[in-house]
Amino acid sequence: MTNLTSFTIADARDKLAKKEFTALELTNAHIAAMEKAKALNAFITPTPDIARARAKESDARLQAGKAGALEGIPLGIKDLFCTEGVQTTAASHILEGFVPQYESTVSQKLRDAGSVMLGKLNLDEFAMGSSNQTSYFGPVKSPWKAKSLADDLVPGGSSGGSAAAVSGYLAMGATGTDTGGSIRQPAAFCGIVGVKPTYGRCSRWGVVAFASSLDQAGPMTRTVRDAAIMLKVMCGHDAKDSTSALLPVPDFEAALGKGVKGLRIGIPKEYRPDGLNGEVAALWDKGIQWMKDAGATIVDISLPHTSSALPTYYIVAPAEASSNLARYDGVRYGQRVEGKSLDEMYGKTRAAGFGTEVKRRILIGTYVLSAGYYDAYYLKAQKVRALIAKDFTDAFEKVDAILTPTAPTAAFGLNDKQDDPVAMYLNDVFTVPASLAGIPGASVPAGLNSDGLPLGLQVLTKRWDEETLFRVCQVIEDAAQFPFLKVPA
Ligand code: GLN
Repeated sequence: MTNLTSFTIADARDKLAKKEFTALELTNAHIAAMEKAKALNAFITPTPDIARARAKESDARLQAGKAGALEGIPLGIKDLFCTEGVQTTAASHILEGFVPQYESTVSQKLRDAGSVMLGKLNLDEFAMGSSNQTSYFGPVKSPWKAKSLADDLVPGGSSGGSAAAVSGYLAMGATGTDTGGSIRQPAAFCGIVGVKPTYGRCSRWGVVAFASSLDQAGPMTRTVRDAAIMLKVMCGHDAKDSTSALLPVPDFEAALGKGVKGLRIGIPKEYRPDGLNGEVAALWDKGIQWMKDAGATIVDISLPHTSSALPTYYIVAPAEASSNLARYDGVRYGQRVEGKSLDEMYGKTRAAGFGTEVKRRILIGTYVLSAGYYDAYYLKAQKVRALIAKDFTDAFEKVDAILTPTAPTAAFGLNDKQDDPVAMYLNDVFTVPASLAGIPGASVPAGLNSDGLPLGLQVLTKRWDEETLFRVCQVIEDAAQFPFLKVPA
């Protein structure tokens, strides 16, 4: 019999409707796969009992003809989304044991659509990282292996558990969050699709905050269609998040299949720096050819402030993080280490509760916000951020979408780059500009390098134009015929 974990969300949706199998059977197949793949460490908190109970409810609704848009579809939820009654850690020791009394808007919407939560997925601590190595609960391993390296590989980050679970067939889809690339880069490393929608498309309510002006939720799936199906459910206005957009939700799935004929695709010269990895550059050229073959016009463009994006991000994001993380004080959430005074308790709790990378960000953030340096760093960064956003606004006068590589390299070994934060930050060089501009971006698996590892292409469009984004993504998907991992027996 076909392993039920092999289906896409779209296929499973149809087969559940035709009663070819039940939601409980589909869920049990995924729970079995999770058990077998424990060594990947993709989940911090598996929730098999909740999954089975929700699958049974789904079967009843399917039976009654009352199926939701994701009825019976087993999904993983990044452990940054608060889930009612289920521990939510943000992969930090400081939140260990925190059980929210409420559900994030995005996970609630997925639940209301009938999806089945398999568990809470591992991530970098407070979503700070590009390799999932900063998790207090241990690193996630990618299900992929390099031909040349015996070591395990990182899945990317911060949504590394999500990427590993979806590419390894432990979940049909997963939620991710992207502040500077945390959906797109792990999607590229693990050979799956990841979509960061326009800032404001998905409610941030109930998502543990990292950098509030950048954080966005989005879907991670094996196909473009599945991402369109999931995103439609996840987004929409929410009165509980003042930055969530009061806009109707388009039918993203309906945009698929329209192709790119007549579209103008921009190729930014700043994304081809000297020394760009040859295989990444070659795949990008291939993507450009696919666009031409499908009837698009290629336009060379310039995004002149690109080289300032990374330093700008690493001022803005830590500044916001240092403020957001002030709430973890041993009084309101999770861990507490007693001291002789209130100040000592705060200090001891935060010293014991936060990991090294989180402490580094808090230090950077408080420094750039401090009275003496605010103008020189934070205010300057805000001005540069506006210029970066304007680069895109100007570019979208000339083009409908932009095509770039997602990441400068393929996945690296679990033991690499550990001690070099700046080398780690360079992973985000192609994803961060779109985050600062608030525009939508997606990564589509486009091919393998000579070491047998996935490489992704990134598509960017203007604000609120996810429909064009999906059209371009699907053309890449169709042309790439990406060799997915085999479904484990
Ligand atoms: N890697 C980036 C960082 O460490 C992005 C993280 C994210 O998007 N959450 O900040």
